[in-house]
Amino acid sequence: MTRRILGLITATLAVMTALVLPAAPAAALPAWPNVVKGQWGPLVTTAQFLLRHHGQTITADADFGGGTETAAKAFQAANGLVADGQIGANTWGKLIVTLQRGSNSEAVKALQTELNRYGHGLVVDGDFGGGTDAAVRSFQTTHSLEANGQVGPLTWQTLVGSFPGYPAGYRLPLDRGAIARSEYDDTHHDYPAIDLPARYIPAYAVVAGTAYRINESACGLGVNIDAGGGVRYTYCHFDAISINNGQQVTPGQRIGTTGDTGNSTGPHLHFAIKVNGGSRCPQKYLIALYDGATPPAPSSLPSSGCSH
Ligand SMILES: [Zn+2]
Repeated sequence: MTRRILGLITATLAVMTALVLPAAPAAALPAWPNVVKGQWGPLVTTAQFLLRHHGQTITADADFGGGTETAAKAFQAANGLVADGQIGANTWGKLIVTLQRGSNSEAVKALQTELNRYGHGLVVDGDFGGGTDAAVRSFQTTHSLEANGQVGPLTWQTLVGSFPGYPAGYRLPLDRGAIARSEYDDTHHDYPAIDLPARYIPAYAVVAGTAYRINESACGLGVNIDAGGGVRYTYCHFDAISINNGQQVTPGQRIGTTGDTGNSTGPHLHFAIKVNGGSRCPQKYLIALYDGATPPAPSSLPSSGCSH
């Protein structure tokens, strides 16, 4: 075989290889979340608006109660799905509808609720106008989607399934991936607070404020953050504190490492919010942050109903 023919074969093989190689894969889509009875927060609101779009007469109040479950089951039964009342991948797939500028519906309210999780600050009015269009295109651009303003299945799944950033001025006390979302709605023993099952991982300031070191028998090592207005955030059972007493901290600044000091039966983060010395339930505050939404003002949080 001559060198020339060998060269031709090599070139032909190169062309064939290029033809059979698959195109670069599209960015993997995030999984649809499973939204179920007992949960609350913006993802629940989104599901409720979509159920309303499909004719279910429920209130979009962010709270997945019995009425929402009944509506979910009715929607599932009408769409050939297993009527388990859980809004998972198959149900999301049937709930979403393609939207674009000019759409005006409850589904647009769901879209606006989702875009607001990503900091867009839209009025949730169901009217897909210029502001919503700009927010959609911005979201599509930052998530490697075609920025065409069309909200189809890929954009919906990316919106609903992704972790948004945190609202300006806030941060979860733990990394989002450290523990499941469901841990943030657990009740606390005896009084309003929450115990998060964290093992020797970084803990962060949820807001800006003045941080004070704690070292006593019940709390063990911990930190208080005074945020002004009589609002105090307390972290207990740290393994180590990483701030100085009286230090100004910013949201997301590491203030310590979770652990098992003080009156503790295993590594966890005890987290509490007090307003003028009164304990408030931190669960809705933390779930909002987990979902990327601005949390309720501490003074609006309930002072009972989150303990067992
Ligand atoms: Zn506790």
